[in-house]
Amino acid sequence: MADYLISGGTGYVPEDGLTAQQLFSIGDGLTCMCTNGTFACALCNCLNVYDFLILPGFIDFTSDEVDLTSALTRKITLKTPLISSPMDTVTESSMAIAMALMGGIGIIHHNCTAEFQANEVRKVKKFEQGFITDPVVMSPRHTVGDVFEAKIRHGFSGIPVTETGKMGSKLVGIVTSRDIDFLSEKDHDRPLEEVDTLLDLPSFYTLTLLGKLPIVNDSDELVAIIARTDLKKNRDYPLASKDSRKQLLCGAAIGTREDDKYRLDLLMQAGVDVVVLDSSQGNSVYQINMINYIKQKYPELQVVGGNVVTAAQAKNLIDAGVDALRVGMGCGSICITQEVMACGRPQGTSVYKVAEYARRFGVPVIADGGIQTVGHVVKALALGASTVMMGSLLAATTEAPGEYFFSDGVRLKKYRGMGSLDAMEKNNSQKRYFSEGDKVKVAQGVSGSVQDKGSIHKFVPYLIAGIQHGCQDIGAKSLSILRSMMYSGELKFEKRTMSAQMEGGVHGLHSYEKRLY
Ligand code: 5GP
Repeated sequence: MADYLISGGTGYVPEDGLTAQQLFSIGDGLTCMCTNGTFACALCNCLNVYDFLILPGFIDFTSDEVDLTSALTRKITLKTPLISSPMDTVTESSMAIAMALMGGIGIIHHNCTAEFQANEVRKVKKFEQGFITDPVVMSPRHTVGDVFEAKIRHGFSGIPVTETGKMGSKLVGIVTSRDIDFLSEKDHDRPLEEVDTLLDLPSFYTLTLLGKLPIVNDSDELVAIIARTDLKKNRDYPLASKDSRKQLLCGAAIGTREDDKYRLDLLMQAGVDVVVLDSSQGNSVYQINMINYIKQKYPELQVVGGNVVTAAQAKNLIDAGVDALRVGMGCGSICITQEVMACGRPQGTSVYKVAEYARRFGVPVIADGGIQTVGHVVKALALGASTVMMGSLLAATTEAPGEYFFSDGVRLKKYRGMGSLDAMEKNNSQKRYFSEGDKVKVAQGVSGSVQDKGSIHKFVPYLIAGIQHGCQDIGAKSLSILRSMMYSGELKFEKRTMSAQMEGGVHGLHSYEKRLY
């Protein structure tokens, strides 16, 4: 083994640990009988769910200096490399808004009608800080019922009213929640212009109290709205992921069937920034055709292809023009694909192999599934992933869809695989598994529950701080430095035997409480 010299130091330090290339080069693809997803097989290099450690490096910076900026796609960069999975128990608008505010992004699931999904995207895009240049606007001919409906759809009720019902037209009033609180069901059909005082323009002072400030030009035409709460959020969320119009970024999942083209059109109208072609096995003619279709119709839209776990799969999708790849097959917490279909790959190997290939074409990789701890996020990033997608880790947070329930005194929320019979009965998720036409359904996932984790607004900052600490121990001041350390061979890894894993966990205690943050 080659030694190397630490310049100006006390002498030679023997080389230690394995480079990523060495870690993944022994007996590639040999039979691996690892069955429980928790330990590395001694016979081959299949690293089940990240069963290795990273050797520590040199620290000359504080953890909060670590820059987690990373590419989601060719054109979109995030300040936090975290993505919530397009699952119907993980990502709808509340989750997507919270993830984007924290610097990540949420991908709205598609186990619902196209209209519902597009509306969830719209809620994220309308949830804007600072200047809002395309707010919901009404005309005096709109009804009280329209205001109530807008309140339900968009979650706010300070709606500007202009002569034509559009921006750029003369401002005639602002309908606030205070106004409509005094109205009842029987008023629903009344046009706004017929309701006394509704269209009076509140004084500047009142508007300030209400927190909504319309901005008009010299001709009294409405050009923007400023919301006080939004300004405050701007201050509170410096990492927030936004587009050029300062709207939060939002993604959405679609399939590859004919009717997904209609879904895509609605999502585009709602302002979606990135679509994820949601398939458990993305290397298909259907996906390639869909990528071609999207790239022709909406060349600016960012498209994530997948899922893939080999370079050969990745090649076809990169050739077709994807802007990022989603990596993982059978490694999700709710997943039984490897057990039922005999297809898939241990996630550590998948991430390294696909990322190592895709980087030559500037295509970022999303490590999807199998993330159980913040340490797994660090490992995925250290193997070349640019971002990490999570289901179970974000499930059962306040922002995840669904209601909490109690079982044996524990507060839980439902979390289910999109290939579970439970989810497939809701029709659309079958497409992810090519099984919508099947007489006999073959489940590729299970349905279960996860313990209450509280709000994303507390949990994601913990994940961010954890990743920064991991990078600090490694000696990488940014994620791009982490990746270049890995590809140059400077970053060193070590496989763990089962007993080493036991040693690395809590052991020898009679009892303990594991509080993470
Ligand atoms: P987790 O973070 O819970 O370990 O994994 C979430 C990921 O599992 C999702 O992003 C998706 O790629 C994958 N997934 C979701 N539902 C299913 C399913 O029913 N079966 C399989 N095989 N994978 C699933």
